[in-house]
Formats: sequence, structure tokens, C-alpha cells
Amino acid sequence: MPLLLGAIGDDFTGSTDLSLMLSKNGLPAVQYIGVPADSFAAGDMPAAVIALKTRTAPAAEAVSQSLAACRWLLKQGARQIFFKYCSTFDSTEKGNIGPVAEALLNFLGDRTTIVCPAFPANNRTVYQGHLFVGDRLLNESSMRYHPLTPMTDANLVRFLGRQLKQPESAGLISLQTVEKGPAAIREKVTVLGNKGTRFAVVDAISEKHLMDIGSACLDLKLVTGGSGVALGLPANFRKAGLLQDGAGPEKLPQLEGPAAIIAGSCSAATRKQVRYMARTVPACKMDPVGLAQGRQRLEEVVLRATEAMAKGPVLIYSSAEPEEVADAQKYLGKAQSGELVERALAETARRLVMAGVNKLIVAGGETSGAVVAALGIRSLYIGPEIEPGVPWTFCREPKKLCLALKSGNFGSENFFEKALWMLPRL
Ligand code: ADP
Repeated sequence: MPLLLGAIGDDFTGSTDLSLMLSKNGLPAVQYIGVPADSFAAGDMPAAVIALKTRTAPAAEAVSQSLAACRWLLKQGARQIFFKYCSTFDSTEKGNIGPVAEALLNFLGDRTTIVCPAFPANNRTVYQGHLFVGDRLLNESSMRYHPLTPMTDANLVRFLGRQLKQPESAGLISLQTVEKGPAAIREKVTVLGNKGTRFAVVDAISEKHLMDIGSACLDLKLVTGGSGVALGLPANFRKAGLLQDGAGPEKLPQLEGPAAIIAGSCSAATRKQVRYMARTVPACKMDPVGLAQGRQRLEEVVLRATEAMAKGPVLIYSSAEPEEVADAQKYLGKAQSGELVERALAETARRLVMAGVNKLIVAGGETSGAVVAALGIRSLYIGPEIEPGVPWTFCREPKKLCLALKSGNFGSENFFEKALWMLPRL
């Protein structure tokens, strides 16, 4: 199957979200972690998503990595490029959405692209160019206080304009046009392009709008948005006869072997999930202060887990209540305590995989990144959805493994159990 859509995501879990969205809607995706080497050839999936970590990187670095990703995807034959960012438009006045979109559009030699973070199913809507989170303007939502990308302006045309070399190259396709359907949207893109608008923020408050916007993007070399706008893209390839009906997420391979859960997130959802799971499977808590003082040894944790996993899944976690985290941070330093735990969990995962684990669930965005790096995984195939936004994935290299990587706050109380239950019965 030739590559049809090449996507560039500005963070890890957001890229997984996009890969799942594409796969569920008939465009099966493989996700790459970082830009693959030039010599590496894309697999046989019709969509490839390159997960970068550029959301809060310096703008110049985000641009150069995104261009490298774009070059690789084009070399693999991608017919359209998608630049994925967060549905809350996480960025600052310096970037990185504007600079990356501008660089990609110039590189691809097209005149205009759309900008659409809307994802109504997740309560993100855009109306008259203003981004809403539920019933609140973006700047009146909790995103106003985000530690890295505080969003203080909900007017996307104005905010994006500040990120672009020429503010006037940002424009609006309002709901009045979107309501008229794909042909009207397409025509408006052309009209705006003739007037010098290169980045058209598009209103969308329903799934139907997203589908129509996707359909209108048929001829664009670059599409930019949240994962919502990707909803309408697979149909374009189907209509063009490039993609068969009925394609979907990959089947998970039948792997015989033990399962482990590694939880490094301290978010409320993960703490609940850990408490729930610890009632039924052997669980071991890793404590940064204990590790630093030598009271707890990684070797022992691994040994105990290895013994227990012959009988069933095991849980290793560092998830702790806020007061406990604050104490560890006071004692070891904020960055140091986090790094110490991340390294310990990633090394534990690596050793457990060496000992035979081939089904791994990881809770926590940064923790997932550290585990995937420690395991030397460069690409993930997207399997069935466990809960909204979180799929089972699997890799073939360096070892066959099923992986569920969950950002901390996702999932219901019995997420781990549900994920394990979904694995192919042997
Ligand atoms: P989330 O997706 O919830 O943000 P992450 O894995 O991205 O989860 O981040 C959790 C961070 O908290 C990691 O850096 C991790 O190392 C750190 N951490 C986990 N457990 C502890 C603990 N007991 N004490 C201090 N820091 C911890």
C-alpha cells in the first residue's frame, strides 16, 4: 500500500491521538518516534505520523525538525502533508504553530492552507475565529494558566497573525461559509488565497463541519489542525480510488507472554487506576527518595516482578499523592526527582521486556516517552482503541511488543484491566 498522507505531530500523545483518528476512519497509520533516518523506508501503511517533541522547543528548532520530517515523508511518496497541533492551539506569540506552518507551506510551494484546531467531540469549537473550550473562550479556560503555553487570546486570526512573518496573511473562513458545504469552503480558500491570505482559520462547531472541511482540503498540499480535522481526510483518498473501503486499525499480533503495567503519572486519573489495579495484581511502588537513599533497589523490584509475572500481570508504579511528590521534590529537587523516577521506570520496563514481557501498558506522557526510548522503539502500528484517544499499538522492532501508552489524565478507573482484557485471547 503506498503512502498517501504524511503527518507531523508536535508532541507524542497528540500524535498517537491523530494516528488513532486516521486509523479508525479508514486510513491505517504507523507512528514514527522522531524523524526516521534517510535510509529507513516507510512501511506499508497509507498514513505515516511522525511524532516530534517540538511544541515548546525554540521556534527555529521546531521549524528545522518539522521540515526534516516533511522531506522524509515526501521522499516516501506522501501526497498530502498534515501538521498536527493541540486542539487548544498550545503555542506562544513566538510560535511554534505559525512558524512551522509557514515553513511547511513555503517548502511545499502551495499558496494557502487551513488552520483548524476544532474538535467538537472534545468540546473544542471555533466560531468567528474564536476558540472555545466548552462554553468558555480559550483565554477564560484553564489554558490561561498553562505553565508553558498560557493561552491569553482566543482570537486565532489575531493570535496566529502574531506568530507569522506577515500578520495579514492570517484570515477567516466563517461558519456562514462552512455551513454551505465543501464546495463553498474550497471556493473561499481560493478567494482568500487570491487576496494574499495564506492561513485560513476555519470555523467548526460540529462533526459535520469537520467532515466538510476535510473534504474541501482535497487539493491542498498542506492541511493544519487538531486531530478533529483529520476526520474528513480519509474519505478524499477513498473517493480518488486510492484507498479501499473498510480499512481500519491493525489487528494486534497474538503474543504469548507476560504483561506489565508501568505507571509514572501522578495525575488524579492514574492514581485512581493504580489503586484499582493494585487490588487484583501484584504491585510494587517505586519511591524516588528510597531509590536515592539506597533503601530501594531497582534490581530487587525487577526480581520480584519477574517472579510474579509468571502467574499474571504485574504493576510497577511511582504514582503518588501531591504531598508525597512535593516532599520528594523538596528533598531531591523538582527536575531531579522526576528524572530519577522516569529513568528507574524506563529501566525497569527494559529489564522486564528482556525477561519476556511483551504486553506493556504505560501511564504518563513523559514516562511513555522515556520507556519507548529505553526500549529503542522507532515506530508503532496503531491497533484498536481502548478508550477515547488511547489505542493499543504494537511494534515489530527491536522486539515484537504490544504497547498501550496513555497520557496521565486519560481513561476510566478500570482502564488497565480493560486494556488487558482486550488483548487477543490465547
Ligand atoms: P502525566 O501524563 O500525568 O503528565 P508524566 O509521565 O508526563 O505524566 O509526568 C509525570 C512526572 O512525574 C514524570 O516526570 C515522573 O518522573 C514524575 N514522578 C512520578 N512519580 C513521582 C514521584 N513519586 N515523586 C516525584 N516525581 C514523580
